[in-house]
Amino acid sequence: MFDEALDGLCSWLEVNGWSKVALQFPEGIKSRAQGLIDALTERTSCSFIIMGDPCYGACDVPRDFEDYAEALVQFGHSRIPGLPVGDNVMFIEMRADVGLSGLINEALPHLGQKVGLLATLQYLDLIGEAEYLIRSAGKDVAIGEGDRRISYPGQVLGCNHSSSTSIADHVDGFLFLGEGNFHALAASLGTGKSVTVLDPVRREIRSMDQLRDRLLRQRFAAISASQEAGSFLVIVSGKTGQRRQALADRAVDLIRSKGRRAYSIVLEEISPSALLHYKADAYVSTACPRVAIDDAGMFSRPMLTFPELQIALGVLDWEGYIFDSIED
Ligand code: SF4
Repeated sequence: MFDEALDGLCSWLEVNGWSKVALQFPEGIKSRAQGLIDALTERTSCSFIIMGDPCYGACDVPRDFEDYAEALVQFGHSRIPGLPVGDNVMFIEMRADVGLSGLINEALPHLGQKVGLLATLQYLDLIGEAEYLIRSAGKDVAIGEGDRRISYPGQVLGCNHSSSTSIADHVDGFLFLGEGNFHALAASLGTGKSVTVLDPVRREIRSMDQLRDRLLRQRFAAISASQEAGSFLVIVSGKTGQRRQALADRAVDLIRSKGRRAYSIVLEEISPSALLHYKADAYVSTACPRVAIDDAGMFSRPMLTFPELQIALGVLDWEGYIFDSIED
């Protein structure tokens, strides 16, 4: 999975002469950390330390890694071009070793004439093959450029689907190559177009239409439950690439302008236990958009995004619902 990248990583470490190197892994590949350290120790004279706290994305470069090491290597994510990190930070991307065989044929009946292609980082290498097969079936294909949070055409992050909005006016719908529902839902809600998921691991095709409706009902319930809230806790992320302090300040100002109480809090990890001691009728998360959407069920109070707060407080109409995203 990382074998080819290790050559480049070893050269990078050698050229720069670093001797102490911090390594960061997303949850899904933490079990490979020690094997990778063994391989790197054989090939370099560096010593390695694992930055063990959860790492959800390239937005999460620990500010204090230089207390422990001279350089940081984050596995599994692509750099966020608009997020400055030092020259002593390297990202080792991950690609899944899977193919499309037969799946595009299954997906074709769900697609319109003009198809936008999207993928998460792990499945970006499948975009070229998907484009060829869909064109061979007589359809048109578009692959959008994202903003400065996105490294590759067609790539989507959970916080940014600008590669879908950039071509939304030119396609009938999207085919998303990847696992899970969040990215596809973000594209679906962000563009208003139908999104079909091709999951190369589960080998299945599914439409986002029903899930989108169910998610919208859940978000409507959270917004309704917050409309009479007397107090809000506004959460700012302490993670470098998730911190939206200006947005949190806007949220606080808006809440107070409506005669409600607002408090703000900085958290690295947003969890029910971290909020346990603070009294509030509703929470507003300005951190990763996935916190309010994916994790909402964990919290004892409604957890809103900023656009949802605007609806709850009567500044926006429900018809104007937009999915929260972090743009650059
Ligand atoms: S903000 Fe969330 S979705 Fe975006 S890169 Fe970070 S963890 Fe991933």
